[in-house]
Amino acid sequence: MSKALELISRLESICGTEHVLTHAHDLATYRSDGLAHYREVPAAAVLPGDADEVQAIVAACFEAGVPWVARGSGTGLSGGALPVSEGVLIVLARLRRILSVDLDDSRVVVEPGVTNLAVSRAVAPTHFYPPDPSSQIVCSIGGNVAENSGGAHCFKYGFTTNYVTGLEVVLSDGSVVKLDRDAPGYDLLGAFVGSEGTLGVSTRITLRVIPRPEDVRTLVAFFEDTGAAGEAVSSIVAAGIVPGAIEMMDQLSISASEQATGAGYRLDAGAALLVELDGPEEECSSRFEHVMELCKGAGAMDVWIAADEHERELIWKTRKAAFAAMGRISPAYYVQDGVIPRTRLPEVLRQIDALAAEYKLQVANVFHAGDGNLHPLVCYDAEREGEPERAEELSGLIIKACVDAGGSITGEHGVGVDKKRYMPAMFSESDLEAFQRLRCAFDPHGLANPGKVMPTPRLCGEVPGPYREHPLEHAGVATRF
Ligand SMILES: Cc1cc2nc3c(=O)[nH]c(=O)nc-3n(C[C@H](O)[C@H](O)[C@H](O)COP(=O)(O)OP(=O)(O)OC[C@H]3O[C@@H](n4cnc5c(N)ncnc54)[C@H](O)[C@@H]3O)c2cc1C
Repeated sequence: MSKALELISRLESICGTEHVLTHAHDLATYRSDGLAHYREVPAAAVLPGDADEVQAIVAACFEAGVPWVARGSGTGLSGGALPVSEGVLIVLARLRRILSVDLDDSRVVVEPGVTNLAVSRAVAPTHFYPPDPSSQIVCSIGGNVAENSGGAHCFKYGFTTNYVTGLEVVLSDGSVVKLDRDAPGYDLLGAFVGSEGTLGVSTRITLRVIPRPEDVRTLVAFFEDTGAAGEAVSSIVAAGIVPGAIEMMDQLSISASEQATGAGYRLDAGAALLVELDGPEEECSSRFEHVMELCKGAGAMDVWIAADEHERELIWKTRKAAFAAMGRISPAYYVQDGVIPRTRLPEVLRQIDALAAEYKLQVANVFHAGDGNLHPLVCYDAEREGEPERAEELSGLIIKACVDAGGSITGEHGVGVDKKRYMPAMFSESDLEAFQRLRCAFDPHGLANPGKVMPTPRLCGEVPGPYREHPLEHAGVATRF
C-alpha cells in the first residue's frame, strides 16, 4: 500500500469512512474560503467528531509527514483555510457542542465548530458575547480565535483576544497542550489567538461573556459625504463618548444594501453613520442627545432614531448586509481590510476615490469608523479581460495607502495567503524572523497551515522537517505594491 493510501486508511479508522472525503466532487466544497479566487483541492478532507479524533488525525499526519490545514466554517476572507494540494483539510464543523455555561463565573466552554452567534444565544437573555463579525450566523469560534476576529462592537468592547481565557490545542506532533490566560509566564495563549491556524488546532475554547447592558439606543445619521460623517466620528470620540458601535457606509454601499433590505436608508445621502450607545439607561439617554447634537453640528441632513427593537434590527440589517449586497451592483468584488488612524480618514478616502477613477473600477466603502478599520469593496467583472487583475492591483494600492497613513494591512480578516506579500511593508526582516522562530517553536516540522501569513518559507533550522514548505504564490498578478 502506498504511503498516501496508508494515511487515508488510518484517517478512516479514526473517524469512519463517511467522514473522510477523497473524491473530487466531495472536495469541491472545500477548495476555497470566502476569498474564492484562491482555490486548491486537498488530497483529503476529514471531518472529525470530537477532540480525540482531531488529536489522532494530527498525530497520523505527523507520522506520515503530511501537512494539514484546519477549517472552521470557511468564511475567512484572506485565504487562511485554503487547502494544501498534497495535504489534509481538517474540517471542524462537527465539533459544535457547547460544553458548559457558567454565568456566575461569566465563562462558556465550547468546541471550535460552535458558531459565534450560538455563544450569545447560549447565554441570553442576561449575557452576551461581544465580538460580533457580520458573518456571526455561520463563522465558527475556532475560526474567530485563529483570526482574532472583530466586528461592529469591538471599538468599545475589544476583539476576540479580549474574551478567550483558555484553550486546548493540538500541536502538529499530535501532543495536546492547555493554554490559560491567567497562568504565569509568557502569554502563549495571546500568541495563539490570531495565529491563523499556523500554531496548532484549537479543540476546546473557554470564553468570557459579559452582562447585557441595561439600555441600547441606536441611530443612523445621513450626511452629504463621508468627510462630514468622518467629522461627526471625530467629534463624538473627542467628546469622550465611547459608542457600543460606530459604523459608516458610503453612497455605493448604502445603495447596494438598501436594494437588498429595503430598510429605509436615504438613497440621496453620500454617507450613513450608524451609532449605537449602550450602558445604564440614564447615561445612555443623555449621551444619545449629545451624539445627535454632534451629528447635526457636523452637517447631518437627517437622523433616523430606532423607535423600537424592530427598527434597530432594520438599521443593523442594512449594515450587516453590506458585503453580500454588493452582488446586486457588481458580479464580483474583492473585500479589502485595512486600518488607518481615524484622523486620516478623509485623506485616505480621497486617495481611494482617485485610485478607483484611475483604475476605472467602482469601490464601495463600509467601515468600523471608531477603529479606523476600512473595508473597501473593489467591484469587478471577471468576464472582462484584465479586470480581476486590475481589481487586485487596486486593492494592493489601497492597502499601501493605509500603511503609508500609519495604519495596517489588516484589521480583522487576517493575512492568510492573500496578504503575506504585504508583510514586509510593515515588518523588517528581523521582525519576520522573530515570527518564524515563534512559529517553529510550536510547529518545528512546518506541518500546520504552511504557506500562510509569512512571505517566506519557514526554515526551522536544526529540526529536520518531514515536509518542506514552498510558498503558495498567486501567479500572474502584477502588483505595484
Ligand atoms: C459576509 C462576511 C462578513 C464578515 N464580517 C467580518 C467581520 O465583521 N469581522 C471579522 O473579523 N471578520 C469578518 N468576516 C471574516 C470571517 O467571517 C472571520 O475571519 C471568521 O473568524 C472566520 O471563521 P471561520 O469559522 O469561517 O474560519 P475559516 O474561514 O474556516 O478559517 C479561518 C482561519 O482559521 C483557521 N482555523 C479555523 N478553525 C481553527 C481551529 N479550530 N484551530 C486553529 N485554526 C483554525 C483556518 O486555518 C484559517 O486560517 C466576514 C466574512 C464574511 C464572508
